[in-house]
Amino acid sequence: MATVRTRFAPSPTGFLHLGSARTALFAWAFARRHGGQFILRIEDTDVERSTKEAIKAILDAMAWLDLDYDEGPYYQMQRLDRYKIVLDDMLERGLAYRCYTTPQELEALRAEQMARGEKPRYDGRWRPENLQPGQTPPAGIAPVYRFKNPTQGSVAWDDQVKGHIEISNAELDDLVIVRGDGIPTYNFGVIVDDLDMGITHVIRGDDHVNNTPRQINVIRALGAEPPVYGHLPTVLGADGTKLSKRHGAVSVMQYAEDGFLPDAMINALARLGWSHGDDEVFSRAQLVEWFDIGHVHAAPARFDGDKLRWVNHEHIKRLPDAALGERLRPFLEKAKLDVSNGPPPASVAALLRDRAPTLVRMAQEAEYFYGVTPGMREVQEKFAAKVDDAVRSALGDLCTTFQRIDWTREAIGSAIKATAAKHGLKPPQVMMAVRTLVTGTPQTPAIDAVLVLIGRDRTVERLGRGLAT
Ligand code: GLU
Repeated sequence: MATVRTRFAPSPTGFLHLGSARTALFAWAFARRHGGQFILRIEDTDVERSTKEAIKAILDAMAWLDLDYDEGPYYQMQRLDRYKIVLDDMLERGLAYRCYTTPQELEALRAEQMARGEKPRYDGRWRPENLQPGQTPPAGIAPVYRFKNPTQGSVAWDDQVKGHIEISNAELDDLVIVRGDGIPTYNFGVIVDDLDMGITHVIRGDDHVNNTPRQINVIRALGAEPPVYGHLPTVLGADGTKLSKRHGAVSVMQYAEDGFLPDAMINALARLGWSHGDDEVFSRAQLVEWFDIGHVHAAPARFDGDKLRWVNHEHIKRLPDAALGERLRPFLEKAKLDVSNGPPPASVAALLRDRAPTLVRMAQEAEYFYGVTPGMREVQEKFAAKVDDAVRSALGDLCTTFQRIDWTREAIGSAIKATAAKHGLKPPQVMMAVRTLVTGTPQTPAIDAVLVLIGRDRTVERLGRGLAT
Protein backbone atom coordinates (compact mmCIF):
# COMPACT_ATOMS: atom_id res chain seq x y z
CA MET A 1 0.00 0.00 0.00
CA ALA A 2 1.17 3.54 -0.76
CA THR A 3 2.23 5.58 2.25
CA VAL A 4 -0.86 6.68 4.11
CA ARG A 5 -1.47 10.41 3.92
CA THR A 6 -4.37 11.97 5.77
CA ARG A 7 -5.34 15.53 6.35
CA PHE A 8 -7.34 17.73 8.63
CA ALA A 9 -8.97 20.52 6.67
CA PRO A 10 -10.84 22.90 8.95
CA SER A 11 -12.56 26.06 7.81
CA PRO A 12 -11.39 28.88 10.08
CA THR A 13 -14.77 30.30 10.95
CA GLY A 14 -14.85 29.87 14.74
CA PHE A 15 -13.09 28.14 17.58
CA LEU A 16 -12.12 24.49 17.20
CA HIS A 17 -15.01 22.56 18.66
CA LEU A 18 -14.99 19.06 20.03
CA GLY A 19 -16.37 17.42 16.88
CA SER A 20 -13.65 18.95 14.71
CA ALA A 21 -10.97 18.04 17.21
CA ARG A 22 -12.20 14.46 17.10
CA THR A 23 -11.96 14.55 13.27
CA ALA A 24 -8.41 15.88 13.50
CA LEU A 25 -7.53 13.21 16.04
CA PHE A 26 -8.84 10.31 13.96
CA ALA A 27 -7.08 11.52 10.82
CA TRP A 28 -3.88 11.97 12.84
CA ALA A 29 -4.18 8.61 14.62
CA PHE A 30 -4.82 6.79 11.37
CA ALA A 31 -1.72 8.33 9.78
CA ARG A 32 0.42 7.59 12.83
CA ARG A 33 -0.95 4.05 13.11
CA HIS A 34 0.18 3.33 9.57
CA GLY A 35 3.48 5.18 9.73
CA GLY A 36 2.06 7.73 7.33
CA GLN A 37 1.84 11.50 7.12
CA PHE A 38 -0.68 13.92 8.48
CA ILE A 39 -1.30 17.26 6.80
CA LEU A 40 -2.98 20.40 8.05
CA ARG A 41 -4.88 22.44 5.51
CA ILE A 42 -6.78 25.59 6.31
CA GLU A 43 -9.82 25.94 4.07
CA ASP A 44 -10.19 29.69 4.10
CA THR A 45 -12.02 30.25 0.83
CA ASP A 46 -15.12 31.49 2.61
CA VAL A 47 -13.51 34.90 2.89
CA GLU A 48 -16.48 36.51 4.62
CA ARG A 49 -16.49 34.06 7.50
CA SER A 50 -12.79 33.16 7.80
CA THR A 51 -10.85 35.05 10.45
CA LYS A 52 -7.27 35.26 11.69
CA GLU A 53 -8.49 34.56 15.21
CA ALA A 54 -10.09 31.33 14.05
CA ILE A 55 -6.86 30.28 12.34
CA LYS A 56 -5.01 30.96 15.56
CA ALA A 57 -7.62 29.01 17.51
CA ILE A 58 -7.07 26.01 15.24
CA LEU A 59 -3.28 26.19 15.47
CA ASP A 60 -3.42 26.65 19.26
CA ALA A 61 -5.72 23.68 19.68
CA MET A 62 -3.56 21.47 17.46
CA ALA A 63 -0.51 22.48 19.48
CA TRP A 64 -2.22 21.93 22.82
CA LEU A 65 -3.53 18.53 21.78
CA ASP A 66 -0.08 17.83 20.35
CA LEU A 67 -1.50 16.67 17.04
CA ASP A 68 1.70 17.20 15.11
CA TYR A 69 1.48 17.54 11.36
CA ASP A 70 4.12 16.62 8.83
CA GLU A 71 3.08 19.24 6.30
CA GLY A 72 1.25 22.51 6.40
CA PRO A 73 -0.56 24.47 7.39
CA TYR A 74 -1.45 25.02 3.76
CA TYR A 75 -3.85 27.86 3.06
CA GLN A 76 -6.27 27.52 0.18
CA MET A 77 -6.32 31.26 -0.46
CA GLN A 78 -2.62 30.96 -1.29
CA ARG A 79 -3.39 28.34 -3.90
CA LEU A 80 -5.79 30.25 -6.16
CA ASP A 81 -3.37 30.09 -9.09
CA ARG A 82 -3.35 26.35 -8.84
CA TYR A 83 -7.16 26.07 -8.87
CA LYS A 84 -7.21 28.29 -11.94
CA ILE A 85 -4.81 26.00 -13.77
CA VAL A 86 -6.99 22.98 -13.02
CA LEU A 87 -10.16 24.88 -14.00
CA ASP A 88 -8.65 26.02 -17.31
CA ASP A 89 -7.61 22.49 -18.04
CA MET A 90 -11.10 21.23 -17.30
CA LEU A 91 -12.65 23.89 -19.54
CA GLU A 92 -10.30 22.95 -22.31
CA ARG A 93 -11.11 19.26 -21.96
CA GLY A 94 -14.84 19.92 -21.89
CA LEU A 95 -15.17 18.72 -18.30
CA ALA A 96 -16.46 22.08 -17.09
CA TYR A 97 -18.36 24.98 -18.58
CA ARG A 98 -19.36 28.56 -17.91
CA CYS A 99 -22.80 29.13 -16.53
CA TYR A 100 -24.47 32.54 -16.77
CA THR A 101 -27.64 31.79 -14.86
CA THR A 102 -28.32 34.69 -12.52
CA PRO A 103 -29.30 34.20 -8.88
CA GLN A 104 -32.78 35.46 -9.80
CA GLU A 105 -33.11 32.87 -12.54
CA LEU A 106 -31.94 30.16 -10.20
CA GLU A 107 -34.49 31.28 -7.64
CA ALA A 108 -37.27 31.19 -10.23
CA LEU A 109 -36.16 27.72 -11.34
CA ARG A 110 -36.16 26.58 -7.76
CA ALA A 111 -39.66 27.92 -7.16
CA GLU A 112 -40.99 26.15 -10.26
CA GLN A 113 -39.40 22.86 -9.29
CA MET A 114 -40.72 23.08 -5.76
CA ALA A 115 -44.19 23.89 -7.08
CA ARG A 116 -44.01 20.70 -9.14
CA GLY A 117 -42.92 18.79 -6.05
CA GLU A 118 -39.43 18.20 -7.44
CA LYS A 119 -36.11 18.46 -5.70
CA PRO A 120 -34.50 21.80 -6.62
CA ARG A 121 -31.52 21.36 -8.91
CA TYR A 122 -29.72 23.22 -11.62
CA ASP A 123 -31.23 22.23 -14.98
CA GLY A 124 -28.06 22.29 -17.05
CA ARG A 125 -29.24 25.16 -19.26
CA TRP A 126 -25.67 26.32 -20.01
CA ARG A 127 -24.31 22.85 -20.55
CA PRO A 128 -22.74 23.05 -23.99
CA GLU A 129 -24.94 20.31 -25.44
CA ASN A 130 -28.10 21.99 -24.11
CA LEU A 131 -27.42 25.41 -25.56
CA GLN A 132 -30.34 26.71 -27.61
CA PRO A 133 -29.70 28.31 -30.98
CA GLY A 134 -28.83 31.94 -30.33
CA GLN A 135 -28.14 31.40 -26.63
CA THR A 136 -25.07 33.53 -26.10
CA PRO A 137 -23.46 34.76 -22.90
CA PRO A 138 -25.28 37.85 -21.63
CA ALA A 139 -23.14 40.96 -21.35
CA GLY A 140 -21.94 42.09 -17.96
CA ILE A 141 -22.44 38.83 -16.10
CA ALA A 142 -19.43 37.05 -14.64
CA PRO A 143 -20.06 33.35 -15.12
CA VAL A 144 -19.67 30.66 -12.54
CA TYR A 145 -17.95 27.44 -13.58
CA ARG A 146 -19.76 24.15 -13.36
CA PHE A 147 -18.59 20.61 -13.59
CA LYS A 148 -20.33 18.44 -16.18
CA ASN A 149 -21.56 15.74 -13.90
CA PRO A 150 -22.19 12.40 -15.64
CA THR A 151 -25.87 11.99 -16.45
CA GLN A 152 -25.85 8.20 -16.49
CA GLY A 153 -24.95 5.53 -14.01
CA SER A 154 -24.10 5.95 -10.39
CA VAL A 155 -21.19 6.72 -8.14
CA ALA A 156 -20.24 4.42 -5.30
CA TRP A 157 -17.62 4.05 -2.62
CA ASP A 158 -16.91 1.81 0.31
CA ASP A 159 -16.98 4.12 3.24
CA GLN A 160 -14.66 2.98 6.01
CA VAL A 161 -17.27 3.87 8.60
CA LYS A 162 -20.64 3.80 6.87
CA GLY A 163 -20.10 0.91 4.51
CA HIS A 164 -21.02 0.82 0.83
CA ILE A 165 -22.73 3.96 -0.45
CA GLU A 166 -24.08 4.35 -3.94
CA ILE A 167 -25.74 7.43 -5.42
CA SER A 168 -27.36 7.66 -8.81
CA ASN A 169 -25.97 10.41 -10.99
CA ALA A 170 -29.54 11.43 -11.71
CA GLU A 171 -29.53 12.78 -8.15
CA LEU A 172 -26.61 15.09 -8.79
CA ASP A 173 -26.70 18.33 -10.73
CA ASP A 174 -23.76 20.17 -12.21
CA LEU A 175 -21.66 21.36 -9.33
CA VAL A 176 -20.37 24.93 -9.22
CA ILE A 177 -16.62 24.53 -8.89
CA VAL A 178 -15.43 28.11 -9.20
CA ARG A 179 -17.45 31.20 -8.41
CA GLY A 180 -17.64 34.40 -10.44
CA ASP A 181 -14.90 35.97 -8.34
CA GLY A 182 -12.48 33.19 -9.22
CA ILE A 183 -12.55 31.61 -5.78
CA PRO A 184 -13.13 27.87 -5.80
CA THR A 185 -16.11 26.43 -4.03
CA TYR A 186 -15.50 24.19 -1.04
CA ASN A 187 -15.83 21.03 -3.11
CA PHE A 188 -13.37 22.08 -5.79
CA GLY A 189 -10.71 23.27 -3.35
CA VAL A 190 -10.94 19.94 -1.56
CA ILE A 191 -10.69 17.93 -4.76
CA VAL A 192 -7.65 19.76 -6.14
CA ASP A 193 -5.91 19.75 -2.78
CA ASP A 194 -6.63 16.14 -1.93
CA LEU A 195 -5.15 15.14 -5.28
CA ASP A 196 -2.19 17.53 -5.20
CA MET A 197 -1.37 16.61 -1.63
CA GLY A 198 -1.53 12.91 -2.37
CA ILE A 199 -4.18 12.25 0.25
CA THR A 200 -4.86 8.52 0.44
CA HIS A 201 -7.56 8.59 3.14
CA VAL A 202 -10.09 11.32 3.69
CA ILE A 203 -11.38 11.11 7.25
CA ARG A 204 -13.95 13.79 7.97
CA GLY A 205 -17.29 14.51 9.56
CA ASP A 206 -20.39 12.95 8.06
CA ASP A 207 -21.80 16.38 7.33
CA HIS A 208 -19.74 15.97 4.15
CA VAL A 209 -21.13 12.64 3.07
CA ASN A 210 -23.37 14.34 0.47
CA ASN A 211 -20.35 16.02 -1.09
CA THR A 212 -18.42 12.83 -1.57
CA PRO A 213 -20.19 11.49 -4.68
CA ARG A 214 -19.73 14.88 -6.34
CA GLN A 215 -16.06 14.97 -5.41
CA ILE A 216 -15.52 11.43 -6.67
CA ASN A 217 -17.09 12.30 -10.03
CA VAL A 218 -14.76 15.26 -10.53
CA ILE A 219 -11.74 13.26 -9.43
CA ARG A 220 -12.57 10.49 -11.91
CA ALA A 221 -13.18 13.01 -14.68
CA LEU A 222 -9.71 14.34 -13.99
CA GLY A 223 -8.42 10.83 -14.58
CA ALA A 224 -7.42 10.24 -10.99
CA GLU A 225 -8.33 7.62 -8.40
CA PRO A 226 -10.35 8.91 -5.46
CA PRO A 227 -8.93 8.47 -1.98
CA VAL A 228 -10.52 6.13 0.53
CA TYR A 229 -13.25 7.87 2.52
CA GLY A 230 -14.34 7.47 6.13
CA HIS A 231 -17.14 9.69 7.43
CA LEU A 232 -17.25 10.09 11.17
CA PRO A 233 -20.53 10.18 13.05
CA THR A 234 -21.83 13.38 14.57
CA VAL A 235 -20.90 14.21 18.15
CA LEU A 236 -23.92 14.81 20.37
CA GLY A 237 -24.22 15.87 23.99
CA ALA A 238 -24.67 13.24 26.70
CA ASP A 239 -28.44 13.69 26.45
CA GLY A 240 -28.43 12.85 22.76
CA THR A 241 -29.13 16.38 21.51
CA LYS A 242 -26.85 18.48 19.35
CA LEU A 243 -23.72 19.48 21.25
CA SER A 244 -24.05 23.03 22.51
CA LYS A 245 -22.90 25.31 25.31
CA ARG A 246 -25.49 23.73 27.55
CA HIS A 247 -23.30 20.61 27.64
CA GLY A 248 -20.31 22.52 28.95
CA ALA A 249 -17.54 23.97 26.88
CA VAL A 250 -17.66 23.31 23.17
CA SER A 251 -14.31 24.86 22.34
CA VAL A 252 -11.32 22.62 22.86
CA MET A 253 -9.23 25.44 24.28
CA GLN A 254 -11.78 26.06 27.00
CA TYR A 255 -10.83 22.63 28.35
CA ALA A 256 -7.19 23.65 28.33
CA GLU A 257 -8.11 26.63 30.45
CA ASP A 258 -10.28 24.56 32.73
CA GLY A 259 -7.33 22.40 33.68
CA PHE A 260 -7.71 19.31 31.57
CA LEU A 261 -4.65 17.44 30.37
CA PRO A 262 -4.23 17.18 26.61
CA ASP A 263 -3.71 13.43 26.85
CA ALA A 264 -6.98 13.08 28.76
CA MET A 265 -8.71 15.14 26.10
CA ILE A 266 -7.21 12.91 23.41
CA ASN A 267 -8.39 9.86 25.35
CA ALA A 268 -11.94 11.21 25.71
CA LEU A 269 -12.12 12.40 22.10
CA ALA A 270 -10.94 9.02 20.88
CA ARG A 271 -13.86 7.38 22.65
CA LEU A 272 -16.30 9.47 20.61
CA GLY A 273 -17.28 6.79 18.18
CA TRP A 274 -14.32 4.48 18.64
CA SER A 275 -13.42 1.93 21.26
CA HIS A 276 -10.84 -0.71 21.95
CA GLY A 277 -12.49 -3.47 23.96
CA ASP A 278 -13.42 -2.15 27.37
CA ASP A 279 -10.46 0.20 27.63
CA GLU A 280 -11.54 3.56 28.99
CA VAL A 281 -8.20 5.02 30.03
CA PHE A 282 -5.35 4.81 27.59
CA SER A 283 -2.32 6.74 26.48
CA ARG A 284 -1.69 8.45 23.20
CA ALA A 285 0.78 5.69 22.29
CA GLN A 286 -1.84 3.02 22.96
CA LEU A 287 -4.35 4.86 20.83
CA VAL A 288 -1.87 4.99 17.96
CA GLU A 289 -1.14 1.31 18.40
CA TRP A 290 -4.82 0.32 18.47
CA PHE A 291 -6.53 2.80 16.20
CA ASP A 292 -8.49 1.26 13.41
CA ILE A 293 -10.86 3.28 11.29
CA GLY A 294 -12.90 0.14 10.69
CA HIS A 295 -13.82 0.12 14.37
CA VAL A 296 -15.43 3.53 14.31
CA HIS A 297 -19.14 3.15 14.97
CA ALA A 298 -21.54 4.60 12.47
CA ALA A 299 -24.02 5.73 15.15
CA PRO A 300 -23.69 9.25 16.57
CA ALA A 301 -21.28 9.55 19.48
CA ARG A 302 -22.13 11.21 22.77
CA PHE A 303 -19.83 13.54 24.61
CA ASP A 304 -20.12 13.31 28.37
CA GLY A 305 -18.42 16.07 30.37
CA ASP A 306 -18.55 14.05 33.62
CA LYS A 307 -16.77 11.20 31.95
CA LEU A 308 -14.11 13.54 30.60
CA ARG A 309 -13.57 14.76 34.15
CA TRP A 310 -13.15 11.22 35.34
CA VAL A 311 -10.76 10.37 32.51
CA ASN A 312 -8.83 13.53 33.27
CA HIS A 313 -8.45 12.51 36.89
CA GLU A 314 -7.20 9.09 35.85
CA HIS A 315 -4.57 10.73 33.66
CA ILE A 316 -3.62 13.11 36.46
CA LYS A 317 -3.13 10.11 38.75
CA ARG A 318 -0.87 8.42 36.21
CA LEU A 319 1.36 11.30 35.12
CA PRO A 320 4.88 11.30 36.62
CA ASP A 321 5.36 13.94 39.34
CA ALA A 322 7.72 16.14 37.38
CA ALA A 323 5.47 16.27 34.32
CA LEU A 324 2.38 16.89 36.43
CA GLY A 325 4.22 19.64 38.29
CA GLU A 326 5.04 21.37 35.01
CA ARG A 327 1.39 21.12 33.96
CA LEU A 328 0.34 22.54 37.32
CA ARG A 329 2.78 25.45 37.39
CA PRO A 330 0.91 27.79 34.99
CA PHE A 331 -2.29 27.18 36.92
CA LEU A 332 -0.57 28.12 40.17
CA GLU A 333 0.69 31.27 38.50
CA LYS A 334 -2.72 32.05 37.11
CA ALA A 335 -4.12 31.68 40.63
CA LYS A 336 -1.60 34.39 41.60
CA LEU A 337 0.36 32.09 43.90
CA ASP A 338 4.02 32.90 44.38
CA VAL A 339 5.50 29.68 43.06
CA SER A 340 9.10 30.75 43.71
CA ASN A 341 8.25 31.13 47.37
CA GLY A 342 7.06 27.64 48.22
CA PRO A 343 7.54 23.95 47.46
CA PRO A 344 8.25 22.73 43.92
CA PRO A 345 5.00 22.21 41.98
CA ALA A 346 5.99 18.58 41.37
CA SER A 347 5.90 17.85 45.12
CA VAL A 348 2.60 19.64 45.55
CA ALA A 349 1.13 17.79 42.56
CA ALA A 350 2.29 14.47 43.98
CA LEU A 351 0.37 15.16 47.19
CA LEU A 352 -2.78 16.54 45.61
CA ARG A 353 -3.16 14.34 42.56
CA ASP A 354 -5.59 11.93 44.20
CA ARG A 355 -7.88 14.73 45.25
CA ALA A 356 -8.02 16.94 42.19
CA PRO A 357 -9.71 15.94 38.95
CA THR A 358 -8.47 19.04 37.14
CA LEU A 359 -5.42 21.29 37.32
CA VAL A 360 -7.62 24.24 38.19
CA ARG A 361 -8.92 22.33 41.17
CA MET A 362 -5.40 21.31 42.11
CA ALA A 363 -4.20 24.91 42.02
CA GLN A 364 -7.10 25.88 44.29
CA GLU A 365 -6.15 23.15 46.72
CA ALA A 366 -2.52 24.19 46.57
CA GLU A 367 -3.07 27.70 47.91
CA TYR A 368 -1.89 27.00 51.45
CA PHE A 369 1.53 25.87 50.25
CA TYR A 370 2.27 29.31 48.90
CA GLY A 371 0.71 31.79 51.29
CA VAL A 372 -2.29 32.66 53.37
CA THR A 373 -5.29 34.18 51.64
CA PRO A 374 -7.91 36.27 53.45
CA GLY A 375 -10.33 33.35 53.14
CA MET A 376 -7.87 30.99 54.80
CA ARG A 377 -7.18 33.56 57.50
CA GLU A 378 -10.87 33.75 58.28
CA VAL A 379 -11.20 29.99 58.67
CA GLN A 380 -8.11 29.95 60.88
CA GLU A 381 -9.41 32.69 63.12
CA LYS A 382 -12.85 31.19 63.52
CA PHE A 383 -11.31 27.85 64.36
CA ALA A 384 -8.71 29.32 66.72
CA ALA A 385 -11.43 31.05 68.72
CA LYS A 386 -12.98 27.67 69.48
CA VAL A 387 -9.87 25.68 70.36
CA ASP A 388 -10.21 24.36 73.91
CA ASP A 389 -7.51 24.74 76.52
CA ALA A 390 -6.19 21.18 76.36
CA VAL A 391 -5.65 21.39 72.61
CA ARG A 392 -4.30 24.90 72.94
CA SER A 393 -1.63 23.88 75.38
CA ALA A 394 -0.76 20.81 73.27
CA LEU A 395 -0.30 23.08 70.25
CA GLY A 396 1.97 25.38 72.22
CA ASP A 397 4.07 22.42 73.15
CA LEU A 398 4.07 21.15 69.60
CA CYS A 399 5.32 24.51 68.32
CA THR A 400 8.36 24.17 70.54
CA THR A 401 8.94 20.57 69.48
CA PHE A 402 8.56 21.47 65.81
CA GLN A 403 11.48 23.90 66.10
CA ARG A 404 13.98 21.26 67.01
CA ILE A 405 12.99 18.00 65.20
CA ASP A 406 14.14 16.87 61.77
CA TRP A 407 11.58 18.24 59.32
CA THR A 408 10.49 14.85 57.94
CA ARG A 409 7.12 13.13 57.74
CA GLU A 410 8.15 10.55 60.32
CA ALA A 411 9.46 13.05 62.84
CA ILE A 412 6.44 15.33 62.42
CA GLY A 413 4.04 12.39 62.80
CA SER A 414 5.82 11.16 65.93
CA ALA A 415 5.88 14.65 67.44
CA ILE A 416 2.13 15.04 66.96
CA LYS A 417 1.43 11.62 68.50
CA ALA A 418 3.77 12.13 71.44
CA THR A 419 2.36 15.59 72.17
CA ALA A 420 -1.23 14.32 71.99
CA ALA A 421 -0.38 11.50 74.42
CA LYS A 422 1.35 13.87 76.81
CA HIS A 423 -1.74 16.08 76.97
CA GLY A 424 -4.23 13.25 77.25
CA LEU A 425 -5.61 13.85 73.73
CA LYS A 426 -6.19 11.60 70.76
CA PRO A 427 -3.82 12.25 67.83
CA PRO A 428 -6.69 13.20 65.46
CA GLN A 429 -7.72 16.02 67.81
CA VAL A 430 -4.28 17.57 67.54
CA MET A 431 -4.00 16.83 63.83
CA MET A 432 -7.31 18.50 63.07
CA ALA A 433 -6.27 21.61 64.96
CA VAL A 434 -2.86 21.75 63.28
CA ARG A 435 -4.40 21.20 59.89
CA THR A 436 -7.00 23.93 60.19
CA LEU A 437 -4.68 26.48 61.75
CA VAL A 438 -1.85 25.90 59.30
CA THR A 439 -3.77 25.39 56.06
CA GLY A 440 -7.05 27.21 56.68
CA THR A 441 -9.00 24.18 55.58
CA PRO A 442 -10.22 21.12 57.47
CA GLN A 443 -9.45 18.85 54.54
CA THR A 444 -5.97 18.16 53.26
CA PRO A 445 -3.88 15.12 52.40
CA ALA A 446 -2.00 13.50 55.34
CA ILE A 447 -1.00 16.40 57.57
CA ASP A 448 2.57 15.25 58.15
CA ALA A 449 3.20 15.21 54.39
CA VAL A 450 1.54 18.59 53.99
CA LEU A 451 3.64 20.16 56.76
CA VAL A 452 6.87 18.86 55.25
CA LEU A 453 6.09 20.83 52.11
CA ILE A 454 4.78 23.92 53.83
CA GLY A 455 8.06 24.03 55.72
CA ARG A 456 9.00 24.43 59.34
CA ASP A 457 9.05 28.21 59.51
CA ARG A 458 5.67 28.73 57.93
CA THR A 459 4.14 25.96 60.01
CA VAL A 460 5.38 27.38 63.30
CA GLU A 461 4.45 30.90 62.31
CA ARG A 462 0.89 29.96 61.34
CA LEU A 463 0.41 27.85 64.45
CA GLY A 464 1.77 30.68 66.59
CA ARG A 465 -0.60 33.16 64.98
CA GLY A 466 -3.54 30.80 65.61
CA LEU A 467 -2.59 30.42 69.28
CA ALA A 468 -2.33 34.15 69.68
CA THR A 469 -5.93 34.58 68.53
N1 GLU B 1 -13.39 22.49 5.42
C1 GLU B 1 -14.37 21.49 5.74
C2 GLU B 1 -14.96 21.77 7.11
O1 GLU B 1 -14.38 22.46 7.91
C3 GLU B 1 -13.81 20.09 5.78
C4 GLU B 1 -13.46 19.60 4.45
C5 GLU B 1 -13.08 18.16 4.35
O2 GLU B 1 -12.63 17.57 5.34
O3 GLU B 1 -13.19 17.64 3.26
O4 GLU B 1 -16.00 21.27 7.38
